[in-house]
Amino acid sequence: MAEVVVRGGVVLSCGAGGVTVTESDVVVEGGRIADIRRLTRRPPRRSASRSPAGASSTEEIDAAGCLVIPGLIQAHVHLCQTLFRGLADDMDVITWLRRRVWPLEQAHDYASLGASAALGVAELLRGGTTSVLTMESMSHTEAAFEAAERLGIRAIIGKALMDRWEPGTEMVGEDADDAWSEVLSLLERWHGAGDGRLGVALSPRGPRNASPETWRRCVELAREADLRLHTHVNENREQADRLGASPEGRDVEALASWGALDDRLVMAHCVWLSAAERSLLRRHRAHVCHCPSANLKLASGLAPVVEYLADGVNVALGADGAACNNRLDGFEEMRLAALLHKPSHGPRALPAALAFEMATLGGARALGLERDVGSIEVGKIADLVVVRRDRLHSAPVGFGDPVSEMVYTHRSDDVSHVLVGGRVVVADSRLLTADENLIRAEAEAQRAALLGRAGLPD
Ligand SMILES: [Zn+2]
Repeated sequence: MAEVVVRGGVVLSCGAGGVTVTESDVVVEGGRIADIRRLTRRPPRRSASRSPAGASSTEEIDAAGCLVIPGLIQAHVHLCQTLFRGLADDMDVITWLRRRVWPLEQAHDYASLGASAALGVAELLRGGTTSVLTMESMSHTEAAFEAAERLGIRAIIGKALMDRWEPGTEMVGEDADDAWSEVLSLLERWHGAGDGRLGVALSPRGPRNASPETWRRCVELAREADLRLHTHVNENREQADRLGASPEGRDVEALASWGALDDRLVMAHCVWLSAAERSLLRRHRAHVCHCPSANLKLASGLAPVVEYLADGVNVALGADGAACNNRLDGFEEMRLAALLHKPSHGPRALPAALAFEMATLGGARALGLERDVGSIEVGKIADLVVVRRDRLHSAPVGFGDPVSEMVYTHRSDDVSHVLVGGRVVVADSRLLTADENLIRAEAEAQRAALLGRAGLPD
């Protein structure tokens, strides 16, 4: 019997044949999409609503008049930085790291990291993001897994590996063997936990924040256990050029020399790739995660995403962290990705359908989950989002292209319902898996304690 039926919405999805738009019921059984039944037209309702299970155990979500989309997927987020929101504005990336992010990450304890992660996951789910690839800090990564497990998001989470001092910064690292033991214990405890929702990534913070030996260990384990490698690449021009002058060469060249450059690698940013690095990327099929808000706010530059797509590279989207964005809003990143490249490449560069694909299936490919999530197809896991269309900023509806409407018009606060693995985790724009007020209160308290430990003013 169906567990959930999402009734009567305009279903947007992208698959092998491009983006599809149908008016359908989506039937969920065993956490997966069991059927997509096309409808004859019904009059639109004002907003989505949810019928509590009565005599029948099937839960019905009335999505008539709404859009139904695959859950958005973000391939670069730092849950540990959500508590830093508003503390590091209008700085370049090096000052931002030295004066704020690095001292604050080092001041985290288990409780503050857990509060930061819970706040981030709550914001992501409420805004229609159902899957994330995240990079945490050197310590307390377990707290991020616990928050993801408790709140119900799909997450691949990596402890930041930093056993090497990066020239030109104070980012001094950790003992390589201790760090590796922690990775192995996270793998043992969390990989596949939460009914398969959670996974472990191997996340050297940047190519030069981990030793070549640690990179080789990561590459070997990633192949053996089929894990994602996740790192920052060429975000800041000055940093990329300075590190590129070292004997190891530029970031992508160094990654290739360690055997890390393959389709398990997800590289955040890639703003400043040389021609030689682009050619390596084209050949080795690593994934790029475009983070438009973060790149704008830290004045890093515009990643040449149109060129990467023309090269056949898979590009996903990410909000990065609340310290450099300051939102974790998948809708905003999708819209910005579609807008940013038009002044230099023309209005048809990166059209809405492509931005929608980057935010869904592109993210799924980056996470290695494209067989299970990223589109609404029979047999896939039911990660679904219902988007209201009855608000002033989206009226009038029904005459334009729903895919363009999705990318250019809608906002994360239009999300009414979210399902992850068939479980309804957001209904009527409220999180069901935790008390939002408690999450905010805990974040306030833990931020005050964190600032005290870091010696920064409240
Ligand atoms: Zn980042």
